[in-house]
Amino acid sequence: MTEATKPSNFIREIILEHNRTGRFGGKVVTRFPPEPNGYLHIGHAKAISIDFGIATEFGGRCHLRFDDTNPTKESQEYVDAIMGDIRWLGFDWGEHLHHASDYFEQLYQWAEQLVRSGKAYVDDLSGEEIREYRGTLTEPGRPSPYRDRAVEENLDLFRRMRAGEFDDGTRTLRAKIDMASPNINLRDPVMYRIRKATHQRTGDAWCIYPMYDWAHGESDSIEGVTHSMCSLEYEDHRPLYDWYLDALGIFHPQQIEFARLNLSHTVLSKRSLLELVEQGHVTGWDDPRMPTLAGLRRRGYTAEAIRDFCERIGVTKAANLVELAYLEHCLREDLNRRAPRRLAVLRPLRLVVENYPEGQVEEFEAINNPEDPAAGTRKVPFSRALYIEQDDFRDPAPPKYFRLSPGAEVRLRYAYIVKCTGVTRDAAGAVTEVRCTYDPDSRGGDSRGRKVKGTIHWVSAAHALDAEVRLYDTLFTVPKPDDAEHWASVLNPHSLETLRGAKVERALAGAAPGSHVQFERTGYFCVDARDSAPGHLVFNRAVGLRDTWAKIESKG
Ligand code: ATP
Ligand code: MG
Repeated sequence: MTEATKPSNFIREIILEHNRTGRFGGKVVTRFPPEPNGYLHIGHAKAISIDFGIATEFGGRCHLRFDDTNPTKESQEYVDAIMGDIRWLGFDWGEHLHHASDYFEQLYQWAEQLVRSGKAYVDDLSGEEIREYRGTLTEPGRPSPYRDRAVEENLDLFRRMRAGEFDDGTRTLRAKIDMASPNINLRDPVMYRIRKATHQRTGDAWCIYPMYDWAHGESDSIEGVTHSMCSLEYEDHRPLYDWYLDALGIFHPQQIEFARLNLSHTVLSKRSLLELVEQGHVTGWDDPRMPTLAGLRRRGYTAEAIRDFCERIGVTKAANLVELAYLEHCLREDLNRRAPRRLAVLRPLRLVVENYPEGQVEEFEAINNPEDPAAGTRKVPFSRALYIEQDDFRDPAPPKYFRLSPGAEVRLRYAYIVKCTGVTRDAAGAVTEVRCTYDPDSRGGDSRGRKVKGTIHWVSAAHALDAEVRLYDTLFTVPKPDDAEHWASVLNPHSLETLRGAKVERALAGAAPGSHVQFERTGYFCVDARDSAPGHLVFNRAVGLRDTWAKIESKG
């Protein structure tokens, strides 16, 4: 999309207004601030697209800043995964990789400044007591008995907190704002807590750690961030964001909130995602059923499709639920343009062409991608023994069934028209083999004027490769798993189906891990980047061919 055709959104309007009034001298600096306590998910992709997209659009820059203020939940594995995923999505922070932990000393100095000016105090209440004193939405809070400590005493205690003299949880530093404020965030929020934990970057240099609200705006200010975009749940924190910056009298960025992405049939809370991983409901953060970028990528999602999705859902102020079908629609559009077509039989049934000479092999020219003439053609071998899908044969044929059944004719894609002459069954009555004859005059699938409605795909038994195919369904059975008492009660027990006996055409022999392909009639697939190896092909179905979104759209 070009700039002129981009839909207007309220963030763009705010920045245009700032540029008109000269509030930031025309500068636009944004940041994406992940906490390294999990993998990025599709909701983060929305935030990333907004943060990086707005910066690019206004000729500014976007920083990557790790919000690493909670040493007990964070790890280098998450840091590395987050950077890899942002790059994969196609965004670049250049030289601007920052960490809240880079600013621990400055934050400490500023905290002392607030203590000296009587705007912060050391509190001896426990966490539990602080919660009790805070009051509720309908009741004002009560001041802590330690609220009016003298500045000198506060300064001494705060320094000793830093020096490690006190145990975890015994003291906090709190901002002295307003215990009766209707906004609970302003009822003397905690700025520092004691936590004798080793930090993945600063090691044991610190035993007090800043709270998110205290660190965030100050980090933005240090970096010269002009527009600090975050999701809606921070709206009630903005007065605090502003209070800290004003109390310090430092450069004051503008916080702007937008609605987070909610996706149907999906949970996007990092806590729930971590539980899914830790309790073994999925195989890891990159399980193809996970809404993480690592999972989506492994499933077969492309960065282009995800960026396109984020662009198309737009930026709104009101929370809403986006249909998973819409994300799938964006993927289909992208893969339709670029995925080569191949023949693959997921649940094979043997088909023997009785009048085709034993030992003879013919090659048919098959189109690689009808959407992309430059993709060219390939040769597909045909012989006497083939595999077709079990679903493509029925005895007896139900009404309006245009595929293979006794006496019926069907077109084998690219090859010949065949007529079913009989079947072989096992002792239990299950069909083990279908027999047919072919019409040599129908080469290339030419029906020569007669009515053959059905076309099915096939592979030559002697030439096909074995493959494992994994079919996925949503991880949850309901559109809003977050509304369930616990998501575990709405987990879909059939979210993964593994087909170990699939047969795929030989052109897939060297398929690169992570590459995309359309299996004609059955969907878009991706070569599994973790489990696929030469001699053991594994395909993940990214998405089926039927576009349920297009259906929803045409109804609407
Ligand atoms: P946590 O509950 O652990 O804080 P989080 O999802 O907020 O989880 P962060 O690492 O703090 O995780 O998120 C980084 C940024 O991504 C934040 O600015 C947040 O607003 C944004 N973000 C997180 N989830 C979504 C979502 N579903 N839609 C849009 N933005 C999101
Ligand atoms: Mg957060």
